[in-house]
Amino acid sequence: MIIAIDGPAGAGKSTIAKLIAQKLNCTYINTGAMYRAVAYKILQIGGKFTQEDLEKLLDSTEIELKDEKVILDGEDITEKIKTEDAAKMASKIAKIPLVRKKLVEMQRKMAEKEKCVVMEGRDIGTVVFPNADIKIFLTATPEERAKRRYEELKQKGYNIPYEHLLEKIKERDKQDSERKIAPLKPTREHIIVDTTSKTIEEVTEDILNIILSKEKGDEDKNKTN
Ligand code: C5P
Repeated sequence: MIIAIDGPAGAGKSTIAKLIAQKLNCTYINTGAMYRAVAYKILQIGGKFTQEDLEKLLDSTEIELKDEKVILDGEDITEKIKTEDAAKMASKIAKIPLVRKKLVEMQRKMAEKEKCVVMEGRDIGTVVFPNADIKIFLTATPEERAKRRYEELKQKGYNIPYEHLLEKIKERDKQDSERKIAPLKPTREHIIVDTTSKTIEEVTEDILNIILSKEKGDEDKNKTN
């Protein structure tokens, strides 16, 4: 079973997808972390590259997602890719067809060997697994997402102005949804779940119910056939 969870930055995809995967005993795959990993590698070489550099870099890139850790070429970069710089560079390089081709291949391979996968990103239900069993589009207003990010950073001891975070979120939304290749957008099959003013528990419950009723519907269909 493949459960695709797509949506914009800060909609709560990672938290929710992880919880759903735990409840259903599925493997959780965070594809955003993979774009961030490539971005991290590019930032390490100074942020500038030619097509040839990029080809070489991608050919020698190994990404492993294990126990919620992100391992890039053997190095644990889980914390290092949580920065604004990594997010910004990830969104920038996510527009490059070569990068997407390589990462989509990796994502399909990762899912191949699993019985059940919860994969989150921007293009899971549109490009990576257009035949996914369940497609969820998790969203919230930019203001709500910026507010959540503000609180999260405040708890970690950072006092970044809310307005700045809102601007960054809007910038990334624009970049991710207006790009030519694999833009962020729901298909007709995506079930839209708006998380604005809902708790994590409520959203998790809603999605579990969607999955259960889909499974029940499939069972009933099989019985009548
Ligand atoms: O999900 P996260 O915010 O970590 O993703 C970082 C960036 O990677 C996104 O802003 C987006 O540009 C890119 N991305 C993507 N396709 C995915 C996952 C992430 O283009 N499936």
